[in-house]
Formats: sequence, structure tokens, C-alpha cells
Amino acid sequence: MEPRQSLARIALLPEVVRNQIAAGEVIERPASVVKELVENSLDAGSTLVQVDLEEGGMRLVRVTDDGIGMGPEDLQLAFVPHATSKLRDVSDLEHISSLGFRGEALASMGAIARCSILSRPADAELGWKMENEGGRIRGPVESGGPRGTSIEVRDLFYNTPARRQFLKRKETELSRCLDVVQRAALSHPGVGFVVTHGGRRVFDVEASMDLRDRIRRTFGAELADELLEVEARDEDFVLQGFVAPPRFARRDTSRQMFFLNGRNLRDKILIRAVKDAYRGFLVEGRQPVCFLALSMDPSRVDVNVHPTKTEVRFRDPQRVIGFLVRHLREAVRSTDMSTPGESMIETMRRREARQGSGSMFRGPVGPPIRPSAASREELDVYEIPGRPLERDARPEPAPGVSEREGPRRAPSADVDPTRPVLQVARTYLIRELHDDEGGFEIIDQHALHERITFEALKREVEAGVPEMQRFLVPEVLEVSRDEVQRIEPHLDELRKIGIDVSVFGETALSVNGLPVRLRHPDPEGIVRDVLQLLAKTGSTPKARDVLEDVLHSAACRSSVMAGDPLTQTEIQALLARGVEGETDQTCPHARPTRVRFTLADLEKAFHRR
Ligand code: ADP
Ligand code: MG
Repeated sequence: MEPRQSLARIALLPEVVRNQIAAGEVIERPASVVKELVENSLDAGSTLVQVDLEEGGMRLVRVTDDGIGMGPEDLQLAFVPHATSKLRDVSDLEHISSLGFRGEALASMGAIARCSILSRPADAELGWKMENEGGRIRGPVESGGPRGTSIEVRDLFYNTPARRQFLKRKETELSRCLDVVQRAALSHPGVGFVVTHGGRRVFDVEASMDLRDRIRRTFGAELADELLEVEARDEDFVLQGFVAPPRFARRDTSRQMFFLNGRNLRDKILIRAVKDAYRGFLVEGRQPVCFLALSMDPSRVDVNVHPTKTEVRFRDPQRVIGFLVRHLREAVRSTDMSTPGESMIETMRRREARQGSGSMFRGPVGPPIRPSAASREELDVYEIPGRPLERDARPEPAPGVSEREGPRRAPSADVDPTRPVLQVARTYLIRELHDDEGGFEIIDQHALHERITFEALKREVEAGVPEMQRFLVPEVLEVSRDEVQRIEPHLDELRKIGIDVSVFGETALSVNGLPVRLRHPDPEGIVRDVLQLLAKTGSTPKARDVLEDVLHSAACRSSVMAGDPLTQTEIQALLARGVEGETDQTCPHARPTRVRFTLADLEKAFHRR
């Protein structure tokens, strides 16, 4: 068959179609419109940004600011793709300090919605209006209006039904829009924000509010009051912000916020650094809560990686990670990791409400709660309910919870070593506290002992070979063929951390020695843990991961303490050894080692206030 020569198959798409296609990358839903418009307002140097929404932003997003504004010449270009005031040539891409720079957002929105811009520069007598309805541009025409800019985006996707289909219920869209504004508010102290929905005010922060105030307004006092401030700098980086105690960790990352030079990011490098900083303090699968602003010279990072600019490329990621982990870990360690007694009271109340019987603290006391079960429940108490939408619906701080600044208590509260400590059920230690807040704490002696064993092992490993106890009769373990193969390449590495295993035939291993530190070692359990870890992490796990994970489980497997009766001297020695390590606030698997009741908690429990 002859190819048809006369008819060209390739044709340039009309501009509006090109813009609609480009819009697919930047504008996914109303929240993307909010993000682009708010970023423009911030780039324009605004100090107050108001966002008005209707029907979750699907019917209307209007962003009004008091920034520098645009004159008629600028307005003529605003809807033109790749027209921007923020870049001049390609070398500018190497040091971008504005949030926008691609000149795509307004052109994209104009192609898929009914848009209008009303703007008046600070020095102008008059404002100007420019419209763009699905690619049909009108203006600029003179128009009254206050200084600054107001951009309206109505009926998003009205001319692209296929896209409209992907929108969710208006409540869902609204909450995504709010999330965008709240992140902007948290990263721009000095700028006030107001959000209305259907004419009702749903969120606001004043320009004068600092970061902690903004977090309190957004997520409530319970979190805000417990945050620990982080501040660090070296010649290249400045880090500022807050980390939350590990118990605030959540199943999702919605309260993990990173701001790089004022830009909200979800970057792999930053997420990893935070994970590392919380290592050993966090239960598997939980995401820590933190609000961190990192600043660096814009030339050290490439922000032009992704159309929505939520990922970046650091020129020297290792330096960034090192700096962050060092300073964040320090901060995380000094957060208050005990479970506040208040939350235990809350747990009891809930349990009672579920069972609908009796009053708190009445009736026979049941068998001791297993520590792991208890700590799970306590964690769930800290699932903070969804973000409050309406200001009136925001729960008032519970009575007795003061609006104090900073964490409620330093991890190692004052104790008097001469005062007796009570042992309950051969498992829990109860001792009085003597600082401002008074009260007492209950320590899970098993969890604490695990931590102490782990810390000691880690120190020994770091200092060289830990002392190993060789068994008179090696323990032989039946395993599968591939388990033998899995562990074989790592035997030297394991010996370095005091675990002496050798291959004993095709389907057996022999355990020849374990660290002396482990008082009642469980060789089989430890080796099975190692195998499991190797299976989980793949063929070449990092030495450090093996070390930490294996030491964790080794410390647990050598559990001596639950059920051991202890003398006062032993108790005091145990508590004192705890203080020597990196932390004594959680066990190596991140369960808390203690619950603290302040005097205020007690007064509440007894209805004294
Ligand atoms: P970009 O932000 O990448 O430059 P946009 O399409 O978002 O591209 O905006 C195009 C241009 O319109 C901006 O470069 C800026 O000059 C101008 N502009 C947009 N919004 C505002 C605003 N709120 N105030 C002042 N100028 C604005
Ligand atoms: Mg922009």
C-alpha cells in the first residue's frame, strides 16, 4: 500500500488544548488551585492572604492578597504560558528563591475554568481586570478595587468533564484545600491567613502568631504544648522548628511537615533523616510528628524536578542527612517520652464507657495488664481526632491542662534516691517525683531493663568486640537450606556484635556463644530473629541495621526482669543505670518505660478540680 503523501499526520495542537494538557500536571483538584494561587500571593510579598471557597473549591476558589499587584502590562501576560516575573534566563534556575517560576499556573487554570484577575499595584490609582474563560481571554479593563490582587477560579473542569469526574465530595476537597493553606500558614510566620467556606470562616491565623501558636491553632494545644523546639545551624544550613514526643506518632505523615526555604516539601531525604532521628523511639509503622524549616543557599538545591515542586534534589544529600540526624536525634531524645497519667485516666474512662458500668477506680482490680497490650492502647489514645474545621467545634483544652510553653517535664525528672520505691506485681516500680509538677511515676522494670541491656550492648559493640560467653555445649538449631545460605555471608559481621554462629551441616546452625551481657540468653530465638531480619531486609542489610535490630531482640530475649522480685538496692541500681544510657524513656522497641502522674492528673482523677 502506498503511504498517503498529501495529508500530514502531525499537527500542532491549538493553544487552549496545549494548556489543558499542561494543566493536567499542575491542577489536579481545587487544592492545587489553592496551592498555586496562595504561592503567587506569597511570592508577591503579601502579609494577609484570604482564601474564599465554595463547594469545596469546586465552584469557587478566590484568593485575595495585599501584595505588590499587577499593572495592565503584567495582566496582559499573566495568562500566557511560560510568562513569569520570577525568572529571566536559564541561569536563574540555579538559585530560585520564589515559590513559583514556571509561569504555568495561571495559563493552565484559564484553560480549564472561568478565571478572573482583579489587581491594583500599590502605587496605582486604579485597578484592572482580566478574564479568561476556558481559553477566551478578555481585558485588561479598568476596574475599582483595593490594593493587591484577587484571583477567582470558578467551575473548575467545567469544560473537561473527564477530569471533573475525579473530584470527590465537597467535604474531602475542602479538607485538602485547608491542608494546603495550613501548610502555607505553618511555613510563613509573619503572614496572616483566613479561609472561608460558603461564607463561614473555617480557619485563620493572625500575622503576628509564631510557629507554636500556629500549630496550636491548627492541631490543638495537646500537641502544641508538648513540642520540643529545635534550633541548629552550621556554615551551610539553618534548621528551625519542633519535634513531638514519639507517642504523638501517627499512622500517616499528615503531621510531618518540612519546609525548605519556605517551600512545603515531601522529600525522601528529609523523611529518611527524621526516621533515623526517631530510630528506636518509635513503634513500627508509626510516623513521627514534626514541623521543620530548613534553610540553605538556593544554589545548593534544585527545585525544578517536578511540576508541583514537592520534591527537590539536594546537591549534597549526605551532608543534609548528617546535619539533620545529628541535631534532630538530640532533640528527640530530650522530649518527654513517658505516658502521661492523664492519658491512662482517659483510657480507663473510655473502657468504662464501653462497658457502661461502675465508676472509675471501683471494683476489683483485674490481673496486671500486659505491658505490650497497655502500651498499644495508650498509643491509640494519642490518635488525635481529625483536624477541626470549624473554630467553634474545636475542643477546648481540658481543664487542668495549662497553656504552658514547651514540654511538660524533662525526661529525667527529679528523684530522691533515698526514698523507697514500691514494687507491684514484681513488674512495676512506683516512685515519687520531686519537681515543680510533683506526682509519681510507674516504671515497667522489664521495659527499662531491656533498654539498659540494649544500651550496654551497643556501647560494647561500638568500643570493639563485646565480651562473649562461649557455650560449653553449642546449641544446634535445625533450619532450612536457604536459611543456611542466607546467614552464611553475615557470620563475620555477627561475630563482631558478639553472636557466634557457625554452619553445622546443610540444614543446621550451631550457636557457639552470645554476649555475656544477656543474662538468660535464648540462642534459638536470637538466631531466628537474625534470619528473619535478613529475610526482611534482603541480601545485603546494612551492618548498622543488623546491629540495632539484633541487639534489640537480643535484649528482649534475655528478659529477666518481669516477675523478678527486687530489693531496694537492686531497684536503685537499675534506675541509676538507666540514666547512664542514651535514653531510659523507651524500651528498644519503643514502648514507653514509664507512666507519669502529675499532681494535676491526680486532682483531676479525684474530682478535686
Ligand atoms: P509563576 O508563579 O510560576 O511565575 P503563574 O502562572 O503562577 O507563574 O503566575 C504568572 C505571573 O503572574 C507571576 O510570575 C507574577 O508575576 C504574576 N502574579 C500571579 N499572581 C500574582 C499575585 N497574587 N500578585 C502579584 N503578581 C501575581
Ligand atoms: Mg505561580
